[in-house]
Amino acid sequence: MLLKHMLRVNITVLALLLACAALVSCDSAKPNQAESARIRTKLEAIPLDQKVQFTNDEWKYILTGCQYYVLRRRGTELPFANAYWHTHEKGIYFCAACGNPLFSSDAKYDSGTGWPSFWQPIGGDAVSAASHSSFSGGTEIMCARCGSHLGHVFDDGPRPSGLRYCMNSAALKFVKAVGN
Ligand SMILES: [Zn+2]
Repeated sequence: MLLKHMLRVNITVLALLLACAALVSCDSAKPNQAESARIRTKLEAIPLDQKVQFTNDEWKYILTGCQYYVLRRRGTELPFANAYWHTHEKGIYFCAACGNPLFSSDAKYDSGTGWPSFWQPIGGDAVSAASHSSFSGGTEIMCARCGSHLGHVFDDGPRPSGLRYCMNSAALKFVKAVGN
């Protein structure tokens, strides 16, 4: 009798556990979208003049795999096989992670490298530079607002600056100027 009772209790516990497991797995089917939406809302609530300090886990929810590889893992995309290397339209290039305005098309030029190249950022505080040169001879350039990797700057650019900001298209989001 006691054994029968214990068996019944165990079956009830098992059923409850299974129900919990089902609930958890239902929950885990949606959380990416919910979490992405939550992080996007959090990002949009930060004024443009304030820094964005997200963890890589948070960035993962709102960046594509390619964006994450470049922006957060300091990756480099292939030359001549990226979105903006040959773009000549007028507009602004924003940080693909945080939306900070980085470069104007007015400072874009054809460097022949196969990567979007600019001779100056849109403002003095749009990007920040690493304190030392990288193995490529350039200096790493990050978005000054969110710290994401954008590309490198070299000193073989055109006048007047003599600089070549060699960027990854995946790190940028181009918005065409109205009327162009
Ligand atoms: Zn940014």
